[in-house]
Amino acid sequence: MEILKAKSAMQQWSKEKKRLLRSIGFVPTMGFLHQGHVSLMEKAKSLCDEVVLSIFVNPTQFGPTEDLDAYPCDLENDLNLARKAGVTAVFLPTKDHVYPQNFQTKIELEHLPKFLCGKFRPVHFGGVATVVTKLFNIVMPDVAVFGQKDYQQLQIIRQLTLDLDFDIKIVAGDIVREKDGLAMSSRNSYLSQAQRTSAMSLFKSMNMAKALIQSGETDPQAIGKKMETFIHGFDETAVEYICFCDPVTLEDMENLDRKFLMALAVRVGTTRLIDNCLMDPLQ
Ligand code: AMP
Repeated sequence: MEILKAKSAMQQWSKEKKRLLRSIGFVPTMGFLHQGHVSLMEKAKSLCDEVVLSIFVNPTQFGPTEDLDAYPCDLENDLNLARKAGVTAVFLPTKDHVYPQNFQTKIELEHLPKFLCGKFRPVHFGGVATVVTKLFNIVMPDVAVFGQKDYQQLQIIRQLTLDLDFDIKIVAGDIVREKDGLAMSSRNSYLSQAQRTSAMSLFKSMNMAKALIQSGETDPQAIGKKMETFIHGFDETAVEYICFCDPVTLEDMENLDRKFLMALAVRVGTTRLIDNCLMDPLQ
């Protein structure tokens, strides 16, 4: 497994693999890897000859009051997990190298960032779209794998790939959960034991919603209110949003009579957690 720090070294590596007709799968991350990331690396491995993992805590996708400086990191463990998952190159750029002095270009999508997390994190998706565009140009993958855990991000990447004509297949990876249902996240490491119990409210509330929908409830407002009350029954929780929306446009749905995305963001203490689930009431 090669470790590459310079953009030019990464590009050269990819060019050489392309010359040898080796397909390249790519998994971009911010590190502090867990089994969710591992599942994406394994998926990339099953689809491609080579797998590139990038680890880069991208400053431009964090707002001024967010956890950029506190973001957890354990490079040794990350490299071990990557090696075991079959990664063939790790791209580890520095901030100054990704954003040199006088950097001034931004990628902004017009529509998709207006919903869900974008309402509460105004700079986030511009930062994500810009860094992913740069990473695509540096790594030049054939396939890029993103987790459904960050569903809005996945949709944004699909859209920018289409809009900017990247010849890259975007593949989604299922949400990997802890045994009790909590979606794995690097940010779960911020939670105290009591907060970890409260964090379960996201998954449990989605199960409650599923039961309501299966019993015939189609009004998203009514379900959302019940979920919110349920979540607020747990200590230190504050619901940011609970949304039922079209899985492609992310626009709110008034009636749950076709396939939809249920998505929520909840603060547990100061930690912001997200989760989601695609549902089809007709199935
Ligand atoms: P991050 O390092 O949190 O920026 O995430 C890197 C990639 O891993 C993104 O595509 C995420 O959607 C994905 N990811 C994060 N958590 C999970 C999870 N629990 N299951 C599957 N994919 C995940």
